[in-house]
Amino acid sequence: MAKIKYNTPIVEMQGDEMTRILWDWIKEILIEPYVELNTEFYDLGLNFREQTKDQVTKDAANAIKKYKVGVKCATITPNAQRVKEYNLSNMWLSPNGTIRAILDGTVFRAPVLVNGITPYIPTWTKPITIARHAYGDVYKNSELYVDGPATAELKVTYADGKVETKKIADFNGAGVLQGVHNLDKSISSFARSCFNYALSTKQNVWFATKDTISKTYDHRFKDIFNDIYTKEYKDAFSKAGISYDYTLIDDSVARIVRSNGGFIWALKNYDGDVMSDMVATAYGSLAMMTSVLVSPDGNYEFEAAHGTVTRHYYRHLAGEETSTNSVATIFAWTGAFKKRGELEDNPDLIAFATRLEDATVKTIESGFMTKDLAGLFHKEGVTVTTLNSRQFLEKIAENL
Ligand code: NAP
Ligand code: MG
Repeated sequence: MAKIKYNTPIVEMQGDEMTRILWDWIKEILIEPYVELNTEFYDLGLNFREQTKDQVTKDAANAIKKYKVGVKCATITPNAQRVKEYNLSNMWLSPNGTIRAILDGTVFRAPVLVNGITPYIPTWTKPITIARHAYGDVYKNSELYVDGPATAELKVTYADGKVETKKIADFNGAGVLQGVHNLDKSISSFARSCFNYALSTKQNVWFATKDTISKTYDHRFKDIFNDIYTKEYKDAFSKAGISYDYTLIDDSVARIVRSNGGFIWALKNYDGDVMSDMVATAYGSLAMMTSVLVSPDGNYEFEAAHGTVTRHYYRHLAGEETSTNSVATIFAWTGAFKKRGELEDNPDLIAFATRLEDATVKTIESGFMTKDLAGLFHKEGVTVTTLNSRQFLEKIAENL
C-alpha cells in the first residue's frame, strides 16, 4: 500500500518518561506503516532542554508559529526533586507555559467518549469541551497578609502621572488581601480563539462569568465577548448553524449538568482550571482527555491532558510490564493530522486520522483496553481483556 503523504511539516515535540516510550511505539505501530511522516522534530525531553538551556522549547514554539500545526508529548515540569534527579543547572519553566506565552492561546479540553464507559452524569452523551483562558486573574496575583487594623486601597498610577485610588476595605483586625488583573488584549484573543474553535468544530459556545457581582472586572469579559462576536463572528456563526450565548456562571453550571454535552464551555482562568478537572473526572478518566492550544492567529498545538505517568515509567525501567493508556496521545496525533489535512485540503490524511480514531475507540468497545479503563467498562455481552501498553497499540493496529 502506498503511504499517505502531505506537504507541510508538522512540528513534533518528543517528551519524557512513559509517554516518551508510548510516543515512539505509536509512531512505529500506528503511524509510520501508513503515513509518510513529514515532521520538524524537537526533543523537549528534560535532558535536551538542559543541554540547550531550554532554547529547544522556544524554538519549537516558534516552529509552530511557522508551520501552524504541532503535536506534543507530555513533558516533565521540573521541581526541586527533578533538579536533583536530572542534575539540572536550572529549574526550567513548564514547557507548556513557555509555549503558551509565545503562541498566546486558549486551551481546549475534550474527552474521548466510548460506548461502555458511562459518565458519572449519564445524560452527557456528547463531549463537553472546556475552553480555559490561560492568562492572568489569580494565577498572576499579588497577595498580602494584613496583620492589624488598616485601610486597603487599589491604586493605579497612569503613564501620564494621573493617579486613581479606590478603597477595598477597612481592616479592624488581621486579614488577607489580593490584587488580580487582566488585559483587554488577552481577553480579546481568548474570545477570538473560542469563536474560531467553535467554527472549526461546528459547536455552540457558552461563556460564563460572575458579572452580576463583579460589575467591572467580569463585566469587561462579557462586553468584549459580545462586541467581538457581534462585529466579527455573528454572520459566520449563523451560516454554520451554531450559536453564542452568555450565561451567569451559576445558571450555566445548572444548565450544564442537565445538558447532553456537545458544546464549548468558555471559562475564565480559575473557573476553567477547576471545572476541567470536574468534567474530566465525570467522563471517566484523565487518560481519555484530549487537549489543544489554539492561538488567535490560527496556530494549533495538540497534546494529551495527562502527564508523563512517572510511576509506570519506573516500573518499565525495572523491566516490569506496564498497562499505560495511549488514547489521548493517539488523539493528539490524529488531531494534528486532521488539522494539517484541513489546511492543505488533503482528504486522505483526514480519512486516515478518522480511521485511526475509530479503530482506537472500537478496540475499547470490543473489550480490549488498558488497566485504567478495565474497572470502568461495562457492556452487555462483552468480556474485558486487559492488555499491556504495547499489546493495546498492536490490537488497535489489527482493527485499523
Ligand atoms: P500524570 O503523569 O498524569 O499521572 C498521574 C497518575 O494518573 C498516574 O500515576 C496514573 O495513575 C494515572 N494516569 C495518568 N495518565 C495515565 C495514562 N495515560 N494511562 C494510565 N494511567 C494514567 O501526573 P503526575 O504524576 O502528577 O505528573 C508526572 C509528570 O508529568 C510530572 O513531572 C509533571 O510535571 C508532568 N506533567 C506534564 C503535563 C504535560 O506535559 N502536559 C501535564 C501534567 C503533568 P496510577 O499510577 O494509579 O496508574
Ligand atoms: Mg487544575
